[in-house]
Amino acid sequence: MCIFCKIINNEIPCFKIYEDEFTIAFLDINQTTYGHTLVMPKKHVKNILECDDVTYTNTTKTVKLVAQHIINKLDAKGCNILSNCNEVAGQSVDHLHFHIIPRFSENDSFKITFTQNEFDLKDLASKIAINPTM
Ligand code: AMP
Ligand code: ZN
Repeated sequence: MCIFCKIINNEIPCFKIYEDEFTIAFLDINQTTYGHTLVMPKKHVKNILECDDVTYTNTTKTVKLVAQHIINKLDAKGCNILSNCNEVAGQSVDHLHFHIIPRFSENDSFKITFTQNEFDLKDLASKIAINPTM
């Protein structure tokens, strides 16, 4: 059983923020910014890429609720919401979770850097465009 399933089953303690029938939210043990929280489904699925739509919808509803609540309570100015998919992207626990990272200023302890690359956008779009199914 994965570490988050153990937390969901009350076998490992956590600092719980929210729980309903399908989802749970608790503080990340490594606080990136003040209030850094994890939201996840109770059902064990690896990540967004492998998640059924119902579980995804239930989880993102809770993400929105918890993010709004944390921002209000902690007087944050915004938040970053992210979900790492697979090891290459930094996923270290193989149970779908969203990080809610409250932001208090642009220079606080969390940073995402988008470095720029000169890709051929026409070629790229032709490779990955999705044709609508009628
Ligand atoms: P990721 O690297 O995106 O898979 O995120 C996993 C997160 O889980 C990390 O930010 C860890 O700090 C956090 N984490 C791992 N174990 C625990 C735990 N027992 N309680 C709370 N957070 C945890
Ligand atoms: Zn799990």
